[in-house]
Amino acid sequence: MSDVRARICELSRHFYGLGWVSGTGGGISIREGDRVFMAPSGVQKERLQPSDIFEVDRQGAVVRGPEGCALSACAPLFLRAFDLRDAGAVIHSHSLRAVVATLVFGDEVRMTHLEMMKGLRGVAYEDEHTVPIIDNTPHECDLVDTLGDAMRRYPQAHAVLVRRHGVYVWGADWAEAKTHAECYDYLFELTTKMTQLGVDPALAPGARDATSTRERAEPGTARVEGSR
Ligand SMILES: [Zn+2]
Repeated sequence: MSDVRARICELSRHFYGLGWVSGTGGGISIREGDRVFMAPSGVQKERLQPSDIFEVDRQGAVVRGPEGCALSACAPLFLRAFDLRDAGAVIHSHSLRAVVATLVFGDEVRMTHLEMMKGLRGVAYEDEHTVPIIDNTPHECDLVDTLGDAMRRYPQAHAVLVRRHGVYVWGADWAEAKTHAECYDYLFELTTKMTQLGVDPALAPGARDATSTRERAEPGTARVEGSR
């Protein structure tokens, strides 16, 4: 059991370096059988020690936890992914790339023909892959129902974006969750940049009409220039 606590500390330091869990936000939870492990609320993620880690059951009841610390507000959201997706690990990131994607796209990020999609379990290069975006709430625990609803509606997605907030990503174990989180982080930045360039990330190469795509990105621009 001490291994999983050390793993959470190690990954938290790594994710802190990526800017995913700074300012005490975000985190990672790992499940081992019917026990779930995660950091307490509001702690410096790069300074975690194994003795800081909470152990809870599948309903969120604390089995073991550090003195004077509160369970993370993310706990019910982590538990939802363990229940609905049989996940072995869940990462909650406040990555700037994820947040910016939620400002550029509407209710979904749609993509196809991007090499990094192949890092997502069950997803091939030529597939169309969609990640849902749900709206944020003032209190993180109030996201539970909409997060669960998005997981049910998008069974192929390994992540749910939360607008102006970040992303929840999961995998069968900590290594797959980390791989998924890295691939999605890259893909969120890439699809954002493609959109800014007038390239629709949801269209396959060749299906793209450069003029109409540019008009969609900047409605009316081409017509105004042409009428002068
Ligand atoms: Zn958060």
